[in-house]
Amino acid sequence: MEHTTDFLEKDSRKKLELYLHIPFCVKKCSYCDFLSMPADETVRRHYIHMLLKEIQENGTYCKEYQVSTIFFGGGTPSLLPGAQIAELMEALQENFTLDADPEITLECNPGTLDRQKLSCYKNSGINRLSLGLQSANDRELQLLGRIHSFEEFLENFAAARSMGFRNINVDLISALPGQTIKSWSDTLKKVLDLQPEHISAYSLMIEEGTPFYETYREDEMRRERGERPRYLPEEETEREMYVQTRIILEQEGFRRYEISNFARPGRECRHNIGYWRGTPYLGFGLGSSSYIEGMRYTNPCRLEEYLKGSCRNLSRIRKKRWDITSQERHMHETPESSEDSIWVLSKQEQMEEFMFLGLRMTEGISRKEFWNRFQAELSQIYGDVLQKLQSQGLLAQKEEHIFLTEAGIAVSNYVLSEFLLS
Ligand code: SF4
Repeated sequence: MEHTTDFLEKDSRKKLELYLHIPFCVKKCSYCDFLSMPADETVRRHYIHMLLKEIQENGTYCKEYQVSTIFFGGGTPSLLPGAQIAELMEALQENFTLDADPEITLECNPGTLDRQKLSCYKNSGINRLSLGLQSANDRELQLLGRIHSFEEFLENFAAARSMGFRNINVDLISALPGQTIKSWSDTLKKVLDLQPEHISAYSLMIEEGTPFYETYREDEMRRERGERPRYLPEEETEREMYVQTRIILEQEGFRRYEISNFARPGRECRHNIGYWRGTPYLGFGLGSSSYIEGMRYTNPCRLEEYLKGSCRNLSRIRKKRWDITSQERHMHETPESSEDSIWVLSKQEQMEEFMFLGLRMTEGISRKEFWNRFQAELSQIYGDVLQKLQSQGLLAQKEEHIFLTEAGIAVSNYVLSEFLLS
């Protein structure tokens, strides 16, 4: 039985978020530059084995932390059989102290889900699903190289509900080649008919190294030069899609709480909010990064290297940081070994991150929180930038909060880059 003082002790532990990267997909989508690839069952089993090892090794050194959220991201985590997710969840529960009510999300792709898997996920403690739909239009889905139809998504969504999942996000992408405001609005409305709790709606990015880059880079450059693109929507259309997204979703009771994320009240993604607010996190798996105790470090991005066991370990990383600080160096990368390369963030870098991650959220950043973290007045560090952006109508202030205006959101890349101090 839990003792009262044990509970108090647990409660006073520091918050920690966990991210597990599952880099496997059925096939690569045409626009995707994420760290993901197809792999056979043997490789996947070996990978799970390495993930379990990472969880065990790191859990030992995190006793002062309490885990508030866990996120299985990908790739396609739902490619894994239910038993493997259950095995990972068991290891997490054994090796870390979890909150009484943690948010545990699993990313899924339609075409890889069935009722048996969903039931296993539910029983192992997953309480939030994030479904990658992208579009409700089959022509657009084909163009994106997705493996599923809208009909398959509908079946998966219904199955998830019937298995008791009451917190579901749907991922969507706008500004697709050939997409009109009408087809985008149709996608939003079809998704709203299902009454999900959360919707993420990002604009398509044409990323280097993808088939889309080969096909549409030229068109994108044309658009950047102010010329009429042949396939991609014009800039004005893209902006209008963004405006329509907010209008349509707000009419249905959603609130935009971050530039591209909308939720019903109380259903905001706690894991992502933690990330934007600077909560420490540990990443497990291929290429995943960690941010903890003012340090950032990343696991190897090459699968062969990761499978050989060269993943990071918090104990070694702490020791390395000790070596660095004892040499009075702020930033350090170990050239002799990529294994323990870490980045100790300077106070200035932490301030920059506080600003450009925090301002992504519609409630913005708090002056008081800035003071609590850095023992410095926000106006002392960013006074000129704040004044300039406020006079341009891109930032606004309410009580102690500073946030992006609608005009600021439209040019958010520019606004956020203004907070770089070096
Ligand atoms: S399913 Fe997601 S991660 Fe996998 S290839 Fe497609 S976009 Fe990339």
